[in-house]
Amino acid sequence: MFEDLPIAGINKMTTVDFPGHLSAVVFLQGCPWRCPYCHNPEMQKLTAGVIPFEELKAFLKKRKGLLDGIVYSGGDPLVYSKLSELIKWTKEQGFDVAIHTGGHLYENFEKCLKYVDWVGFDMKAPFAAYEKITKAKNSGEYAKKAMQMLLASGVNYEIRTTASPDDLTMDDIYQIAKDLKELGVKNYVLQEHRHLPDEEGDEITHFAQNSSFFVNKDLISFLENSFENFSIRRA
Ligand code: SF4
Repeated sequence: MFEDLPIAGINKMTTVDFPGHLSAVVFLQGCPWRCPYCHNPEMQKLTAGVIPFEELKAFLKKRKGLLDGIVYSGGDPLVYSKLSELIKWTKEQGFDVAIHTGGHLYENFEKCLKYVDWVGFDMKAPFAAYEKITKAKNSGEYAKKAMQMLLASGVNYEIRTTASPDDLTMDDIYQIAKDLKELGVKNYVLQEHRHLPDEEGDEITHFAQNSSFFVNKDLISFLENSFENFSIRRA
């Protein structure tokens, strides 16, 4: 059935990855993008998984009635061509399903929107400047198409941006908000960038740079006024 599912890892319980749900996160191998701040670079390669599908099946059987939801994350789960069927199957096992994605494969994304209950969608940069984060051609165009599909589908969602001070400027954040507002986005989260241990610079400098977005009253009030639901997520 899904014996080729490239499972890179499972987080057996979380309350923060699928709003209103006690859920488990299944990380799938593979992502075509190369964001400089990626926290799962080992999941970028399109290789086989390390956990067999049978193990996930047994896990779901055991957790039925104990967990409300399953989140497919990555990497980017859209890389798995049978993701929509997998979502459908997971729902038949008695779980609500969420996905975390950047929306790069929008044709696969459209199929998933028929079944999925919630989408956490990463907005990497202003659409016109996506490549500076993803290092992939046309990625802004693909993300925009996927986001339009999401908004048209009526599926619950959160659009979020990792405010990496090394990669995004204050103007970028303003432009992101304008791009999203134009599409009709209502739910937006600006999330703090978590410092990777091998990144250059000391913690204090990084903390100060990182905070620059969040202590800027003009920016925060612009974001609050741009969206029906806006929040800040600290690392
Ligand atoms: S889209 Fe996500 S998984 Fe892919 S490189 Fe960027 S941060 Fe990493």
